[in-house]
Amino acid sequence: LTSKLPNTKTTIFTVMSKLAQEHQAINLSQGFPGFEVDPQLIELVNQAMKKGYNQYAPMPGLPSLREVLAEKVERLYQKTYHPESEITITAGATQAIFTAIAATIRPGDEVIVFKPAYDCYEPSIEVFGGKVVPIQLKAPEFLPDWDEISAKITSKTKMIIINSPHNPSGTVWTKEDMVQLEKLLKNTDILLLSDEVYEHIIFDGKKHHSASRFAGLAERAFITASFGKTFHATGWKTGYCLAPATLMKEFRKVHQFNVFCSNHPIQAALAEYLLKPEHYETLPNFYQQKRDLFLSLLNGSKFTFTPSSGTYFQLLDYSKITDEDDVAFAERLTTAHKIASIPTSVFNLNQQDNKLLRFCFAKTDDTLKKAAEILQAI
Ligand code: PMP
Ligand code: GLN
Repeated sequence: LTSKLPNTKTTIFTVMSKLAQEHQAINLSQGFPGFEVDPQLIELVNQAMKKGYNQYAPMPGLPSLREVLAEKVERLYQKTYHPESEITITAGATQAIFTAIAATIRPGDEVIVFKPAYDCYEPSIEVFGGKVVPIQLKAPEFLPDWDEISAKITSKTKMIIINSPHNPSGTVWTKEDMVQLEKLLKNTDILLLSDEVYEHIIFDGKKHHSASRFAGLAERAFITASFGKTFHATGWKTGYCLAPATLMKEFRKVHQFNVFCSNHPIQAALAEYLLKPEHYETLPNFYQQKRDLFLSLLNGSKFTFTPSSGTYFQLLDYSKITDEDDVAFAERLTTAHKIASIPTSVFNLNQQDNKLLRFCFAKTDDTLKKAAEILQAI
């Protein structure tokens, strides 16, 4: 068999979590919360199972969940998505991203991807014959250079993928960035995939500028989101996609054959749980305290950093410690020092100018204290 993805290896999240387990290291590599889901939400899932939500859900998702999402998006971002035709519940954001790409990208189409980028974008494009057009973002700001983006657009550009708050840098796009993007895409047929899985994990009073807020972006955008991030339930693999009806129609043609529907009892539970906005409005504060604790404990260490503005990740610069490449150093930290992180080269961050590892701070205060103790000693 000739591989369709000759350059794709096993995802780093699998590799590092396995290494962490083998060496009994504190695992700040793969991004997942180290604390439990709200017992109230667990109880709602139990009840949904008892009430019989155990067979296939409707293909686009449970109507009550789509309705509550439509209300939430309208309240937060002042944009109306019709639950019937413009919202689909997916098996996590990963499936939403893959489906949006599968439904739109043909061989030879170019897709602009900012690097460093979350690792699922590139293979999803390539498996359908699309060509990734990378744009390197520069540390520590990781913000777009509009002249460079403009220069990369060709007649073959089919899609541009953005991700704010940004994994792995924690950068948050400003309103001005979104306005610039809107201007750039005006009068083009270029689609937008806006990966907004960290929409509720945002710090220092910053605001999430969803693509849905900008008419010129929303009209061409697939917006992907994940309940896993918002409700500490990454293993539930439940998310959703928002898109205008014409795009959603194509999305669902693929969705119905790559998963058909997502987990039914969890959708039923979420439909009720989402009725209370405090279930996600408390997140910025919750995670900002985690970030601040982790960073305060790292003061005086040899690691340097720019505080993350969103997501539950923090990049740490180790250039004062070693010349090793990031993969070698991340492995050594795991095996010898018992702390696992993610090397940023796997997100295709230019390694000539950067010595950065990504650490997940979605952990108990106790775990963060133990992790910081190790990092202080290096
Ligand atoms: N996009 C980004 C930027 C992510 O960080 C993640 C998960 N870490 C996903 C998408 C996938 O989300 P899910 O787990 O809901 O598939
Ligand atoms: N999104 C998570 C991260 O960035 C991991 C998701 C996964 O393991 N596929 O760490």
